[in-house]
Amino acid sequence: MAKQHRMPIESGCPDGFQYMHPVMVKNFGQWRTHTHPRPGVLCHIGYSGDRVWTVRVGTQRILDVFTLRKLCDIGDSHADGHVRFTIRSNIEFMVDEQAKVDPLIEALESEGFVVGGTQNTVAFISHTQGWLHCDIPGTDASGVVKALMDELVDEFRRAEMPNRVHITTSCCQINCGGQGDIAINVQHTKPPKINHDLVANVCERPSVVARCPVAAIRPAMVNGKPSLEVDEKKCICCGACYPPCPPMQINDPEHSKLAIWVGGNHSNARSKPTFQKLVAAGLPNNPPRWPEVADVVKRILRAYKEDARDWERINDWIERIGWPRFFERCELPFTKFHIDNWRGSRKSLNASSYIRF
Ligand code: SF4
Ligand code: SF4
Repeated sequence: MAKQHRMPIESGCPDGFQYMHPVMVKNFGQWRTHTHPRPGVLCHIGYSGDRVWTVRVGTQRILDVFTLRKLCDIGDSHADGHVRFTIRSNIEFMVDEQAKVDPLIEALESEGFVVGGTQNTVAFISHTQGWLHCDIPGTDASGVVKALMDELVDEFRRAEMPNRVHITTSCCQINCGGQGDIAINVQHTKPPKINHDLVANVCERPSVVARCPVAAIRPAMVNGKPSLEVDEKKCICCGACYPPCPPMQINDPEHSKLAIWVGGNHSNARSKPTFQKLVAAGLPNNPPRWPEVADVVKRILRAYKEDARDWERINDWIERIGWPRFFERCELPFTKFHIDNWRGSRKSLNASSYIRF
């Protein structure tokens, strides 16, 4: 009897089995091992003796329909019509014969696609939705990715890092940015500017007041109209009030900056999961190439590549050498604000309406 797929549900992706390569369906959960014949290619070997080769290719995530069609055509002609996307916006092609691998790679490279991103490479940078799907970005996260990957493409192609490096970028500082070995996040440095003429028409004032994590927003009458005011001494410039109330504009070409955090790791393969920590702040949000951000990221990668032991992730490497040495190796300024037990933190945390100690 044909396998029954689960019924579609309102949210979430459809049942993946219907799209999987038949060799993968047959050997599901029964893989003995895998090898890494070259960067960008994995070979999985099942207990049954079956093999399946996966070829990984970087994409820009926000794909135009022509590129998508080109990738699908290559999948139809060279990969038995089976593809899948990874969470880091790569597309993977699966084939069941080794002889199909090289022609597939040739077809992809002749169209300008880059094969790589497996094992100890700089994996494709993941980024948040940005302007296309969201109403609060402070920068163009996909632009930062494009500019950086242009410079790091050789590290995506070659597997020469001590271990894999996951870089993430996030276009606001409150929502869907992820943990990364290196994370590039927006950092607002000034409180929002309020357009009092629009607040009464656009914003639900109680929702906005409730949204502020440090209770810095109060209702106010301005020029005879209901509006809001911000206690700028309390405001931590998080940007949380801007989504429910766009007239509280916080994005600013000069004062919205980028910050770099390192050492975030969800995995517990070799050591405990870790939170990332701030290592560079106040970098200019400088499109279209973000040279200041690229410089710091490349310095961190260079030091990691030279100094880390085989298979140490960035957090393992920093744990071994210590934070002061990390700052020295990367030639980044180390200030009192980088120390976790900074005495002023108690005062600023006590300004929060949620945390008291
Ligand atoms: S990081 Fe922030 S601005 Fe960017 S897509 Fe997510 S919620 Fe929107
Ligand atoms: S930016 Fe954040 S801290 Fe400042 S007023 Fe808005 S919600 Fe409150």
